[in-house]
Amino acid sequence: MIGERRLVLEPREVPLGGVRGMNVLRVLPHRNLPTIGAWCFLDRFGPADTRMRVEPHPHIGLQTVTWPLVGEIRHRDSLGSDADLRRGQLNLMTAGNGISHSEYSVGDDPIPLDALQFWVVLPDGARHGEGGFERHTDLPAVSLPATTGQDATATVVLGEFSGTSSPATVHTPIVGAEIVIPAGSAVRLPLRPEWEHALMLVEGDAAVAEHPLSQNDMLYLGDSRDAVEVTSTDGALLFLIGGEPFEADIVMWWNFAGRTHEEIVEAREGWEAASDRFGVVEGHDVRIPAPPLPDVRLMPRGRKI
Ligand code: MN
Repeated sequence: MIGERRLVLEPREVPLGGVRGMNVLRVLPHRNLPTIGAWCFLDRFGPADTRMRVEPHPHIGLQTVTWPLVGEIRHRDSLGSDADLRRGQLNLMTAGNGISHSEYSVGDDPIPLDALQFWVVLPDGARHGEGGFERHTDLPAVSLPATTGQDATATVVLGEFSGTSSPATVHTPIVGAEIVIPAGSAVRLPLRPEWEHALMLVEGDAAVAEHPLSQNDMLYLGDSRDAVEVTSTDGALLFLIGGEPFEADIVMWWNFAGRTHEEIVEAREGWEAASDRFGVVEGHDVRIPAPPLPDVRLMPRGRKI
């Protein structure tokens, strides 16, 4: 058991650099908390007027969960997928043993763009498997009765929330849900006490467990809760993540999630050698080269919270 927590994880601004050339807000991983459930990474890119060009790059051992807030994103991958994505729709890409993809804003000009991208680490049973890509345009919604004001709405993006399941493929007990709280309202979000959870304030104002959040703050709640109260004065958009605490120690470096230094080195060498492991994303002249490895052995980051 972890126990109840009420700890703010503040985002940091990260230049993606290279040919990506844009700044993002990185919420996860936190230096003291490598995972929340199986969620291991979260970037918010935007809001900004931008021409996003994330050229082909590889992944192993994780799923990418892309949730646009504003603007359209074009996804292409080494399985031959080519999909445009807008608000309310989920792109879920499963890397398994290896995949590569690109992400562009739609069109040739800068567009208003804002999106969340999460990574979910895969357990041993799935991380060496086939890659996959799913696009979900009709996710289930749950109405949450207000204790004050108007009812809130949850869109179940991944896993299970309040007895309702997303159709998206998952490999661990997990929840990802977008929560919309109307102005002047309070609601109790049902949680599973055996899971850990965190809530990010995406837009508006909210207090979670009586703790006021700033925009882009994530409040880590620990486990052992069967509900948490959320209130908003002017209305709020939040994102709930959580799940069964992920037991394995993971080694994350660049776009890879593995268990050992050697696995990461092998994946890096495979990408640099353009091996079949990562396939080819059609329609691109450039790909993102792997950065140099650090001089030290890559180690799992322990949980210190
Ligand atoms: Mn990616």
